[in-house]
Amino acid sequence: MSRMLVWLRNDLRLADNPLFHFATPPESLLCVYVLDEAWLTPLPRLGASRVGPARLQFLWQSLIELRGELLKRGSDLLVRIGDPVDAVAELVVGHDIDEVRVRADAGWEEQQATAQLAERLGDAVILSRQDAGTLLDEASLPMAVDDLPASFSAFRRKVEQDWSVPGAVPAPVTLPNWPAGAPRGFPPLDKVCERAAAWAPDPRGGFAFTGGEAAGWSRLDHYLWESGAVARYKQTRNVLAGADFSTRLSPWLSQGCLSARQVHDAVRAWEARHGANDSSYWLVLELLWRDYFHWAARQEGASLFGGRELPVPSDDFRAWCDGRTGVPFVDAAMRELAATGWLSNRARQNAASYLVRDLGGDWRLGAAWFEHCLIDHDVASNWGNWRYLAGVGRDTRPRALDVHDQAGHYDPDGSYAALWQVPGVSAHGEET
Ligand SMILES: Cc1cc2nc3c(=O)[nH]c(=O)nc-3n(C[C@H](O)[C@H](O)[C@H](O)COP(=O)(O)OP(=O)(O)OC[C@H]3O[C@@H](n4cnc5c(N)ncnc54)[C@H](O)[C@@H]3O)c2cc1C
Repeated sequence: MSRMLVWLRNDLRLADNPLFHFATPPESLLCVYVLDEAWLTPLPRLGASRVGPARLQFLWQSLIELRGELLKRGSDLLVRIGDPVDAVAELVVGHDIDEVRVRADAGWEEQQATAQLAERLGDAVILSRQDAGTLLDEASLPMAVDDLPASFSAFRRKVEQDWSVPGAVPAPVTLPNWPAGAPRGFPPLDKVCERAAAWAPDPRGGFAFTGGEAAGWSRLDHYLWESGAVARYKQTRNVLAGADFSTRLSPWLSQGCLSARQVHDAVRAWEARHGANDSSYWLVLELLWRDYFHWAARQEGASLFGGRELPVPSDDFRAWCDGRTGVPFVDAAMRELAATGWLSNRARQNAASYLVRDLGGDWRLGAAWFEHCLIDHDVASNWGNWRYLAGVGRDTRPRALDVHDQAGHYDPDGSYAALWQVPGVSAHGEET
């Protein structure tokens, strides 16, 4: 019988989470999440932290709900703020842990942290990395991660030749005991960051995200079964404003409150009742995009960030962040991002393209600003999409958009630009 520690990162759910499934249950189980304190400090060049108030609030809500679910099953949750490797290593030593489980994350920093922990713990402690959260596991990809095609189309063609997505696994009914004497619980959000505790989305976004598995399931049920919006997804997914033009599942998928397989199962169940159509197919395709960026990030390692040292931002970059470029379509997107922590895919593409193509800005600064603002920030999807749009890295074909053409096509009556004509409260907490 072992004493196990589960190190949670972007996998804040009990169902379909292999970290909580045991062939032989351990004697005790310590579940820990460590918020990296470095993420709370403003980056010198950017002047903003890695995690902004909107995501921090969503994260705390997700952790609170996860703790409730763990308590119901006889377990608990410990949240620490500090250096993740130090915090986990200290708990392993202090509580005589002999096995640590962690998700095999796509992010380079997470991979480095796992490797550092393995080195610190040595051979006496088993450290197991588990695939979780994606449609496919590494073993079921039709190619080795190192041979991932440079384009999504080539990846998709290979995958679609013969693929079956494993079904999601239900949550465990009970969990092993909490180790005697181990600390539990976590600080209230206002003690960690007052701005995050007080953060509220601008109502013009038309939607408020709440962290946790239950809210994620409720959104999924609404999108598929209550509103039936999934039936029109392919036609509506490029709309810019409103609650139901796309699933808005990204924050729950990014924090791991939902897994891609759970969403996939739900879409297949909807298809079994209503019949598959272009829209349901397209939604699964978007989940496959997510998988692609995940595996691409695993392959690219540190180069995903194009060199982490950020350049000195120009005045044009600051104006872009604040929604003051003078192009109403782009300014609306940047104001919505700052005031709601979320943006449609079409608006993300245009905002990113404008920075890179029209302002000649550095894509890495743009990605870092998105990382600060987004509730749904996911390292592989954010940095991967930015690289893709900037035409750097694995696929160097130019992707830049003409934002004036795009505005004419996607916002022909200017209603989206008008909606955000008056700035909201920026991610810096100031009037823009
Ligand atoms: C510059 C830029 C930055 C981005 N940063 C992020 C990010 O940090 N986190 C993030 O989850 N997505 C990111 N995306 C991808 C995409 O814009 C969002 O996933 C999508 O807009 C979220 O809305 P939704 O949940 O309604 O998506 P839907 O259209 O309903 O799609 C369903 C799910 O598929 C996945 N998905 C859809 N499009 C993409 C895509 N292009 N790449 C990867 N996954 C996708 C998401 O998990 C999404 O929740 C970025 C896109 C761009 C252009």
